Amino acid sequence: MRIFTASLATETNTFSPVPTDMNAFKAAFFAGPGEHPDTPTLCSSVVPILRRRGRAEGFTVIEGTSCWAEPAGLIQRQTYEALRDLILSELTEALPVDGVVLGLHGAMAAQGYDDPEGDFLARVRQIVGPDVLVAAEFDPHSHLTALRVANLDIMAAFLEFPHTDFEQRGEHVIELALQALKGKIKPVISTFDCRMITIFPTSREPMRSFVDRMQAMEGKDGILSASVIHGFMAGDLPDMGTRIVVVTDNDKAKGDALAASLGRELYSLRRQTAMPMLDTEAGLDKAVLIRASHPGLPVTIADVWDNPGGGVAGDATFILRRMMERGMDDFAVATIWDPIAVTFCQAAGEGAELSLRIGGKSGPEGGEPLDLRVTVQSVFDAGWQSFRNSRVTLGSTAVVRPVGTRIDIVLITSRTQTYQPDIFANQGIDFAAKSYLLVKSTNHFHAGFQPVSSEIVYIAAPTCYPTNPATTPYRKASLEIWPRVADPLGLDA
Ligand SMILES: [Zn+2]
Repeated sequence: MRIFTASLATETNTFSPVPTDMNAFKAAFFAGPGEHPDTPTLCSSVVPILRRRGRAEGFTVIEGTSCWAEPAGLIQRQTYEALRDLILSELTEALPVDGVVLGLHGAMAAQGYDDPEGDFLARVRQIVGPDVLVAAEFDPHSHLTALRVANLDIMAAFLEFPHTDFEQRGEHVIELALQALKGKIKPVISTFDCRMITIFPTSREPMRSFVDRMQAMEGKDGILSASVIHGFMAGDLPDMGTRIVVVTDNDKAKGDALAASLGRELYSLRRQTAMPMLDTEAGLDKAVLIRASHPGLPVTIADVWDNPGGGVAGDATFILRRMMERGMDDFAVATIWDPIAVTFCQAAGEGAELSLRIGGKSGPEGGEPLDLRVTVQSVFDAGWQSFRNSRVTLGSTAVVRPVGTRIDIVLITSRTQTYQPDIFANQGIDFAAKSYLLVKSTNHFHAGFQPVSSEIVYIAAPTCYPTNPATTPYRKASLEIWPRVADPLGLDA
């Protein structure tokens, strides 16, 4: 048995001012055939898992290229086509194969391509023909298109948001693929369009129970897999929106019925799934109040929408400025993306004091740059943080401290959202001793920061991210979805 595996992934925010090119993939993650590390990345866990299982179980795994770019704006056409054609040529070289297992994200958009993953999968299918198994793992913040479903035999998305289960779901897709290749199952995909878009954190109810029940159905009564495609509201594409995916063992009618019933149930919860968020002033008021009564662990403040993981630059200064203006002077910030400021800090050297313009360079929406007198606490050629078993680079990194304060600001050159508290500790910051931690992430930070925080405050501060789908000026996405329309499925009593 011969299986080809590769990964081509990023998440495209079509509203982002940061274009995506080949350098963005090379800077974030790029591993040629056989070069993928044993540790997984978010969308490429199928590669090291298959490598391990192939060795243990005696089947042949042919590895293609794996690559990932930090979420950002539209992908340059030549970049997408070059990466697609590279992996397709590796697949052609690997023939004959019995199966293809891909690590995708599912929210890519490139110049001239509204559905790059659909285009890629259609070309994979053309190369291998109708009888070879094609399976893929997706991020739930993706778009589901008919072209993808038509060219896949098996698909599943991470169930958790934060995506703590990306490896388990990689294992899950591979297990189903191996069973299918051994002739034990005959997977069939069913989908349902929920005609809505919102966010679905599973760190709280009602999604916690919804996802637990979905997972409990898997492996019973012919239900092989069930996933929610949350959708990605910053991707203005024709298929943007929430979908349900069910894979059954050759029982399309049953899969269709289950997808529809799960979809209608999720639709009925649509006003309850997002976590409560406060505006900047109310959020900081709350953080100060919590701190006053809980002097032990720091209060974590999430800048929910200035999240590079959602494709924005991650250089907004809005909350940081207000914290300083309010006289809060004992906190740490991870991170501000600012390659120019990092270069200046490297040139000045550790211990130097200089005037530094921080953040606010990618556009006006997240606030003006901050002009501060700072001390360079430390500089690193390659800062890093972890996310589960994955190591995430920050690129060249500097920690600066405004003079006369106990504020530590982590400045980075490789855009990434905040995943785990070691984003502070690895850069020499004693985060546990701070009063507040300001992080840039919608919810991925939650798993790591909840245990080290007295409480978490979600703040929706100004940003270029399209945070309100009811008013976002979509041009390609369907406008016949909630919250544009109150009850598009006509199920409200
Ligand atoms: Zn995601």
